[in-house]
Amino acid sequence: MSFSENIARLQPSATIAVSTLAKTLKAEGKDVIDLSAGQPDFDTPGWISEAGIQGIQLGGTRYTPVAGMPELRKAIASMLSGRAGRDMSADGVVVSSGAKHSLFNAVFTLAGPGDEVIVAGPYWTSYPQMVVLARAEPVFVQGSPERDLKLTPEDLESVRTENSRILMLSTPSNPTGAVYSLDELAAIAAWAKEHDIWLLCDEIYREIYFGDDGPSAPSLLDLPVEDLGPFILVDGVSKCFAMTGWRIGFAWAEPAVAKKMSALQSHMTSNPASPSQYAALAAYRDLQHSAESIAEMNVAFRRRRDLVVDRFKTLLPQFPFVTPEGAFYLFFNVEAAFGDGIENASDFCTKVLEEEGVAMVPGVAFGDDRYIRMSYATSD
Ligand code: PMP
Ligand code: GLU
Repeated sequence: MSFSENIARLQPSATIAVSTLAKTLKAEGKDVIDLSAGQPDFDTPGWISEAGIQGIQLGGTRYTPVAGMPELRKAIASMLSGRAGRDMSADGVVVSSGAKHSLFNAVFTLAGPGDEVIVAGPYWTSYPQMVVLARAEPVFVQGSPERDLKLTPEDLESVRTENSRILMLSTPSNPTGAVYSLDELAAIAAWAKEHDIWLLCDEIYREIYFGDDGPSAPSLLDLPVEDLGPFILVDGVSKCFAMTGWRIGFAWAEPAVAKKMSALQSHMTSNPASPSQYAALAAYRDLQHSAESIAEMNVAFRRRRDLVVDRFKTLLPQFPFVTPEGAFYLFFNVEAAFGDGIENASDFCTKVLEEEGVAMVPGVAFGDDRYIRMSYATSD
């Protein structure tokens, strides 16, 4: 059977594939410990769920404007304005069906044939696939282990061409949990601005942060506006409010770009689910309550991070890892186990799943098959 050129190079999501396999094995009665899925094991905070239920009961079950209900866009803009210390226009907010959708809208709106998108490696598995769907070219670059695989402007400069259009970056990072400091972000932003490259910054794990720079990870919005070139910020409720199934994410871009992303969305999904928008509205309106709910979950994430790091240090010293400062992943290097039928991390993961019943995602999904990602968003 032949398919369109649009999907000729498309691969299914490897993270979802592993967690689906783990679920299937569990359903068959196998004793599987699932450390693959990147989603909080908590329930959505009750007061947020309640707002979604009330939204339905009050009749919020119809189409809304494509980019989201005006009050939700305003609440998000006001939250961002508070963070940035300057006015972030509600016209710049596009609410979508998950941050994944927001990222896709951004890539598809800005990049096309002939364009190159620099994908900061190790990358979240969907980034290059989104670029491929836009028929642009993903270009990979990874920082050194001494810097927790984070990139510097010099790394970026080594892959820049005149066709470079976007840099895609997540901080805190999926899959490593590394977090760019404000100075590191500033250096990258300066490089992007100098070369007029769009900075597509995925801050979905921003609130899940264990570092020393405040309650949440440093953000693009912490930088003075004059230090920023063109950028799109992506965030959402999935991770910090344990709302993966509600499917709400958002992008903020200058209004002319937001308009285009909204037009794209108007032909694909229309508005994100309206009851979910009511739940997100509660979360973004009551920031005090939100901060409390996030802090509660972060206590557990931090404890698990410490537990996992401690066990690796004491029991598995042969496997170096990036010390996670945010998100809920440990990215560890298993080269020490290579040989004897194990040629890469994919082989290692298959063996551990078959022999020990532990599911993790091989680094090939993130561009480096010497590593494995385990999620500790699961019970201690
Ligand atoms: N960005 C990163 C880095 C992620 O790990 C995820 C995981 N889901 C997303 C975006 C997408 O989140 P959502 O569930 O809101 O689509
Ligand atoms: N983002 C999560 C992960 O990386 C959820 C699965 C997905 O959407 O890829 O595992």
